[in-house]
Amino acid sequence: MKFCTLSSGSGGNASFISDGTTSILVDCGINAKRVREALNCIGEDADALSGIIVTHEHADHVAGAGVAARAFDAPVFANLKTMEAMNRAKVLGKLPPEKLIVFQNNESFRVGSFVVKAFHTSHDAADPVGFTVESGGSKAAILTDTGYVTREALENVMGAGVVLLEANHDEEMLRRGRYPYVLKQRILSTRGHLCNEIAADMAVELIKSGTGSILLGHLSRENNLPEVALHAVLEKAGAAAEACGCRIIVAPEKIVSEVIEC
Ligand SMILES: [Zn+2]
Ligand SMILES: [Zn+2]
Repeated sequence: MKFCTLSSGSGGNASFISDGTTSILVDCGINAKRVREALNCIGEDADALSGIIVTHEHADHVAGAGVAARAFDAPVFANLKTMEAMNRAKVLGKLPPEKLIVFQNNESFRVGSFVVKAFHTSHDAADPVGFTVESGGSKAAILTDTGYVTREALENVMGAGVVLLEANHDEEMLRRGRYPYVLKQRILSTRGHLCNEIAADMAVELIKSGTGSILLGHLSRENNLPEVALHAVLEKAGAAAEACGCRIIVAPEKIVSEVIEC
């Protein structure tokens, strides 16, 4: 299986997963043109996409989903509350009903050759989820936009070969930064975003479970830096990562990440 982010952070999130037969996007917060260009960069074809699976309705995850769904003739998958929230906000534009597919959380569903499962996260959205995507014995997981690591998230992502793990902010940078108080509280809350320290704790658990690659993502432009996030995580998880041969890298904000094989 191949995994990469096409873009990661508040400017727009989209991840690409392919097993050679099926390819999907997880979220599409960037426009269709950028998706096509990003996939071209890695020798993949946007027209071959089998679907766009959506974690939650925030614009940085779905702003480009409707246009991309039409451009690439790929259905949009979301749970009911997220689908309703997207419809209310009219973010998807006009799509035929058969292109809007509702899944149940905690129940595996198929997208082509992938078995996908959504698990609850804790975030200020209608019904936010993370995903595991499995094919041929390989598993990728996405855990971003969560105030803390829910028990469900922990259980699901364990053992994934590759994990996109949120390392949103450095708490000190956030507290001292220029964000308004209310926004700081929102980010720090249990329904906000994961800080570097918690990402580091989570990385330790993932390495113990056999994860081979951890991609730190959804970094805040204001309240984090790639080197700060990486340093925080390596401080706690670096020795274990080295011992187990786990790679820990940072997903760049606006360009395609390294393509990870798992
Ligand atoms: Zn969000
Ligand atoms: Zn987000």
